[in-house]
Amino acid sequence: MIPIELSSRQMLIMDIVRENEPITSEQIADKLNLTRSALRPDLAVLTMIGILEARPRVGYFFTGKVPKNLISERISELKVDKIKAVPVVIKEDTSVYDAIVTLFLTDVGTLFVTQGDGNLSGLVSRKDLLKIVLGNADIHKIPIGIIMTRMPNIITVTPEESAYDAARKIVDHQVDALPVVKVTQEENQEKYKIVGKVTKTTITKLFVEMGKV
Ligand code: ADP
Repeated sequence: MIPIELSSRQMLIMDIVRENEPITSEQIADKLNLTRSALRPDLAVLTMIGILEARPRVGYFFTGKVPKNLISERISELKVDKIKAVPVVIKEDTSVYDAIVTLFLTDVGTLFVTQGDGNLSGLVSRKDLLKIVLGNADIHKIPIGIIMTRMPNIITVTPEESAYDAARKIVDHQVDALPVVKVTQEENQEKYKIVGKVTKTTITKLFVEMGKV
């Protein structure tokens, strides 16, 4: 793939062709209030790198081939804040039994845990819960606080980080979900207020969205 930066006019032309294909150079020029000759260099670039295809006497088509750097640019600029989902949060004193019921009722795979103050103290995954059930413990009595993965061992992401950063963390740390946190200072201590989550589903949805032509 050619690492090339498209100009904003070239991006605009790409969008126009995508939405109106087949479209002639006169029609594109009309839409942009340009002359055909002013448009020619941009059309030549877009055709050469394979984004557009020109068919004689028909017009220009969009090939669906978006340069790799456009995708990487988009996922690096897109903020976690824009893609984050709503987290399911329980309290540390919730029983393992109630946590499992919550998991089913809310149709999620990871539950985030606080002490009731909105600050992240831990999380539990499906397998954490399966493990404790296999051990024949009294799941009505055991609180989540005892079995959860606890701060500071939680991999988090902030709203300002990119979609790419979040996906990278999920892959590198082999986890299903990341809490989105805002870091605050309370009584000289760093607190992590939970404001969302990014999961493998969030990333898959984004992938589908970006793959739409
Ligand atoms: P599952 O256990 O259902 O396969 P995960 O792969 O997400 O789900 O979890 C694997 C282990 O990592 C679990 O013990 C879980 O508590 C822990 N874990 C999950 N998410 C995180 C995270 N963001 N940071 C740190 N540990 C995590």
